[in-house]
Amino acid sequence: MNGLESLESIRQAVEVCARCPLSAGRMHAVVGEGNPLANVILIGEAPGASEDEAGKPFIGRSGQLLTRVLEENGISRGDVFITNIVRCRPPGNRDPKPQEITACSPFLTAQIAAINPPLLCVMGRHAASTLLGRPVKIMQEHGLWLSHAGRELLIALHPSAALRMPKFREAFEYDMKVLADRLKALPAR
Ligand code: URA
Repeated sequence: MNGLESLESIRQAVEVCARCPLSAGRMHAVVGEGNPLANVILIGEAPGASEDEAGKPFIGRSGQLLTRVLEENGISRGDVFITNIVRCRPPGNRDPKPQEITACSPFLTAQIAAINPPLLCVMGRHAASTLLGRPVKIMQEHGLWLSHAGRELLIALHPSAALRMPKFREAFEYDMKVLADRLKALPAR
């Protein structure tokens, strides 16, 4: 199976997924989208109301900020692949529960394997600690590249934090510049 075929089969599996109770409350599962040959997968937390309604990741307020800051750094959404650790909206936008993250994690593992990018960018505490398997202190660890399972992994602030406080906005913009600088140094695949 090539990367594109496996991404399509992941999409079909996510759309009918009932591995955790979040599936019962969704309008749409949000599988993720972008370039199947991306050099980076950006990984957020979980869909919000706009994403649940449209079935697309990061299109609400924090997604618009993410898109804008990427573009300011010369990166378009079509250059990258964007997904989340949890594919269905938690009620009232609460944090995803550990068992929901565990239930959804095979989809992320499968997307990473299908796209096989050299870089991963985890946005926010939940995505960072899920991928790294340990608690992450975002303000201490953001903006740094780590080596993770044969890939380079950047811990970034989540754009929703950037909407809340100027110091988080500054840190988020710094992280996206670090990401863009690394991406521009890589050949297209
Ligand atoms: N926040 C996320 O973490 N993911 C989305 O898709 C939208 C908002």
